[in-house]
This record gives sequence, structure tokens and C-alpha cells, in this order.
Amino acid sequence: MSSAPIEFEDFHWLLDILQSLEVGLVVLDMDYKVLVWNGFMENHSGINGAAIHEKCMFDYVKNLPREWLEKKVEDAIVLRTPVFSTWEQRQYLFQFKATRPFTGMSEYMYQNVTVMPLKSIHGGVSQICIIVYDVTDSASNQLGLHKANEQLRQLSITDGLTKLYNRAYWQECLSQEYNRYQRKPIDVTLMMMDIDFFKKVNDTYGHPAGDAVLRKLSETLKSHLRSTDVAGRYGGEEFAIILLDSDVIKSITVAERLRKAVEAIVVHYENMVIKFTISVGLCQLEKDTASAKDWLINTDNCLYYSKKNGRNQVTAYGVTEMKPLEDKGPDH
Ligand code: GH3
Ligand code: MG
Ligand code: MG
Repeated sequence: MSSAPIEFEDFHWLLDILQSLEVGLVVLDMDYKVLVWNGFMENHSGINGAAIHEKCMFDYVKNLPREWLEKKVEDAIVLRTPVFSTWEQRQYLFQFKATRPFTGMSEYMYQNVTVMPLKSIHGGVSQICIIVYDVTDSASNQLGLHKANEQLRQLSITDGLTKLYNRAYWQECLSQEYNRYQRKPIDVTLMMMDIDFFKKVNDTYGHPAGDAVLRKLSETLKSHLRSTDVAGRYGGEEFAIILLDSDVIKSITVAERLRKAVEAIVVHYENMVIKFTISVGLCQLEKDTASAKDWLINTDNCLYYSKKNGRNQVTAYGVTEMKPLEDKGPDH
């Protein structure tokens, strides 16, 4: 197939097209001297094509990741193929301001970049072409979606009132922890607590005051626990915490500290002053604990014992001597 000889005129309009493309186009020689700097590059960098012509790009353009670009260029030359970089790998090569403000997003343009070796008619590479695509719109859509999904996920696992994990998610964590223990037994203790006489708090001060007590208790919980501990709202005024890397003896210390801290809390709600206490149950996971459910039942039995034995106390499975108790009724 024969092709018509290329006339000078053809180049002229080709250059016009390159100049007005909505894509950045830069051609460099092997010393990074600029041979082509199209309209897109001029508009976004504020550097005129004539001013940068045959000048080393690194001397003129601010904040270029020189080492990174040199590596890309080297790869393109060695492999003799174009190499790509997406905004996920590096947000931008050229630090251009985004043309539209995106709330919560970066003030700079998101770019996909192609670095292309330009082969001479003799086959060697004598120039490098860089193509810059402005992908701010799709990147910010994608990032916005990702953020929204993450917020939704957080909402779906969090209890609205206390901001602790909700029961469903917390129970998932409990099963995971139980399974993890089967593979790698590291000390882990379960703590369950329930506010004493909470019905009275609601009846005396009203439901919103009761809510304020629940919020205050969860704040106190958070401030007493380690970041690795997993705290959830198990029921209305019942909380459950997986204490990681903690045997039952250490956990008794944590629980006692917490119980005393709660005893000292004074909740001020509208002109009311509210004090309350908690009862706690503890059980360390052991090799012979048959299931996550059994672990939970053992802990709950300890909590129940704390209640029946007079409330405002800690009972630990296998440590506290649990004497048979006569049922003294709910208010004793
Ligand atoms: P006990 O010492 O035996 O635990 O006595 P109690 O009165 O605390 O008894 P119980 O644990 O059965 O009481 C639970 C009460 O918690 C009943 C319910 O009205 C209240 N409650 C549950 N969820 C909420 C909530 O989200 N806000 C408020 N204010 N109260 C709640
Ligand atoms: Mg309860
Ligand atoms: Mg209660």
C-alpha cells in the first residue's frame, strides 16, 4: 500500500489540533528539554510554550517528581513501549489546580499519564512524549462514592446513641475472635455489663435523661479501653467488650477500674443530677469453651451473679467464688 507524501501543510493543521486538544501534550528530548508544550499545558501551568521551548522542563515547572518521572522514562525507553500511570497510583504528575472546586476533594487536578518513547526513523528513541489526561471528574466521582460507601458501612455497624458497635456487628466480631483463638490461642476475655436499676433512672428522670446516662457510660468505656478492645451495645443498657490480649486477672483490674469510674460519674441533665452503677461479668476464653455462644453464656451467668449478689460488683468466671444465692427479687 502506498501513502501520499506528507506535505508541510498537513503538519500545520496537525499542530493546530495538538495545540487545542483537551489533553496535555509534552515532547522532550533526552535531556528533558521541551520541544512541544501544547495549549492545555500552557493554560494549566501558566507557562508559555515559547518561553519553555528548548529549556529543561525541571528548571521551569514547579514540584515535578523528578526521580519518579525519570524512572518512567527509563522504563519506556528500555521496554520501547508506552508506560502508564493512573491517578490512583499518583494523583498527578503536573501540579495543576483543579478547574472546579470539589468539596472535600483535593484542590489539584487528578491525572492519568502516558509516557511514550518516540522512535526515530532509524529505530532508536530520541524523544519522549508525555500525554496528560485530566480525569478529575471521574476520580472525584469514584472517591465520593467510596467515601459514601465507607460512611454507609460505618452507619450499618454502629449504634446510633452510643457510637459503639451495634449488636449484630459486635456478635460477628465475637465469632471471629472465637475462631481466631482456635488457630492461635492468645489470652482474650469477655466482659459484659448492665446498668443497675436503670428502669428507675428512666422512671425518675425520664427517658432522655436515661439516654444521657447511656452516652456518658459509653464515653467512659471508650476512655478506659485500649484501641484493640471491641466494645458493643449488646442490649438496651447492656454492653459487651472483647478484651484482647488480656487474661481474666488483668481483666478483673480493668473491670474494677471501670466500675469505680462509673460509680464516681455524676451526670448533669437539665437540672437533674444522676448517679448510677454497673454490674459486670467476666470470662476468659479457654481451650475447652465449646463455642462462642458458650463463652457468652458463661460471661452472662457471671453478670447475673453480680446482680443477684447485690449489684455494683464484678464476677469473674473461675475466679470469683460463686455461692448458691436465693432469689431476693429484682430490687434487691
Ligand atoms: P437491673 O439492675 O436488674 O439491671 O435493673 P434494671 O432496671 O436496669 O433492669 P433492666 O436491665 O431489665 O432494665 C432495662 C431498662 O433499660 C428497660 C428499658 O426501659 C431501658 N432502656 C433500654 N434501652 C434504652 C434506651 O435506649 N434508652 C433509655 N433511656 N432506656 C433504655
Ligand atoms: Mg438489662
Ligand atoms: Mg439493668
